[in-house]
Amino acid sequence: MRVFCWAKIKNRNEPMIDIATAQAFVEKHSSPIAQSTVIELGEALGFVLSEDAVSTIDMPPFRQSAMDGYALNIGNSNYYRLVGEVKAGDNSNLLLKSGEAARIFTGAPVPDTANTVVMQEKVNTNDSQISVEGEVKIDINIRPKGEQIKTGDVALEKGTTIKGAHIGFLASLGVTTVKVYKKPSVAIVVTGNELVAPGNPLAFGEIYESNGIMLKSVLSEVGYKTVSTLSVEDDYESTKSILQKAIDNHDVVIVTGGVSVGDYDFVGKALNAIGVEEVFYKVKQKPGKPLFFGKKDEKSIFGLPGNPAAALSCFYIYVYPLLKRSQGASITSLQRISMPLKEAYTVKGTRAQFLKAKVSERGVMVLGGQSSAMVRTFGDANALVFIPENISQIYEGEKVTTILLPNT
Ligand code: AMP
Ligand code: MG
Repeated sequence: MRVFCWAKIKNRNEPMIDIATAQAFVEKHSSPIAQSTVIELGEALGFVLSEDAVSTIDMPPFRQSAMDGYALNIGNSNYYRLVGEVKAGDNSNLLLKSGEAARIFTGAPVPDTANTVVMQEKVNTNDSQISVEGEVKIDINIRPKGEQIKTGDVALEKGTTIKGAHIGFLASLGVTTVKVYKKPSVAIVVTGNELVAPGNPLAFGEIYESNGIMLKSVLSEVGYKTVSTLSVEDDYESTKSILQKAIDNHDVVIVTGGVSVGDYDFVGKALNAIGVEEVFYKVKQKPGKPLFFGKKDEKSIFGLPGNPAAALSCFYIYVYPLLKRSQGASITSLQRISMPLKEAYTVKGTRAQFLKAKVSERGVMVLGGQSSAMVRTFGDANALVFIPENISQIYEGEKVTTILLPNT
């Protein structure tokens, strides 16, 4: 890791690294938070298993009827003597002789002596006798014991990010708690003299602070709810002390603004002074050229651009994978697919770009309003289209790398 020297970097035209290199650096410098914790299954959404979840039962735990119908011990004719009934939850085990049937309902235990279940739509009843239409096939409409999973088998592997369906599956196995990696705690630090909290009047030259609440909401959307927001003016000493506090108390610190090369951009200098080591600064990309990533021991620090849309792009491309990796997930980056472009697009500039875009059935369309300051477009977007550097024109129908945004 290079030792960061802000003063030098600020004043020289240092070569920027490319996106792939920056992403590889983030990956290299992120690892799961060592501690695991046991949590209630109902609280486990979005957490990552830190050990395999093993089934302590067969599922289903008994031969189970998949239909409302009749359990048969297959005989020589299509006529069966009806000898009883089994409904869901019964624990009877009727003894059926060859040529005998029991009325049965979905989810009920199939008697050991039955070797098939016919659906009721194929059966005619007449008091204590039934007749079955058509050929009777053996072992139909019966879910075998342990069909889904057997006792001792791995139900979900370590590294699985727990979704609602997983919670349903684990509950069906009688699981009440799971062992998961701790999630990182995150601090957002917003910087800028011009920022005013919504709810207050704006003086000339001021704007409303919006990155803090936006990032906090997006973090919550992707599963990180332990988030503190701090704000600081463009002042070296206060920036140092706020950043120090954020780093002391959190695993990941996301700073917005103040990371560029203006005379009042103190973030880099302050991080350097408090012992944060630079991993990279400045990436050959649009938006988000002034992007800082550094480490202090196990803590990760991102300096994102102040412009809201640029900050959000950088969050999805760099911060999101680090957060997922910190909590032990096996898949960390957003999903990338190749999609045809619905309308031709002329690229501005030569840098590689992440463009706000909308995926629909027939392809992906780059949206209007790509400025780094315009975050409204993100509201309409469900994807980012990645354009490699030095591409000036993409044609209708051309396949482009499309990064799907979460929760859209
Ligand atoms: P900076 O990166 O500090 O030079 O900021 C770039 C632009 O983003 C400026 O126009 C800032 O006013 C704006 N900006 C910075 N931080 C925020 C914020 N927290 N909320 C809204 N706009 C911001
Ligand atoms: Mg600023």
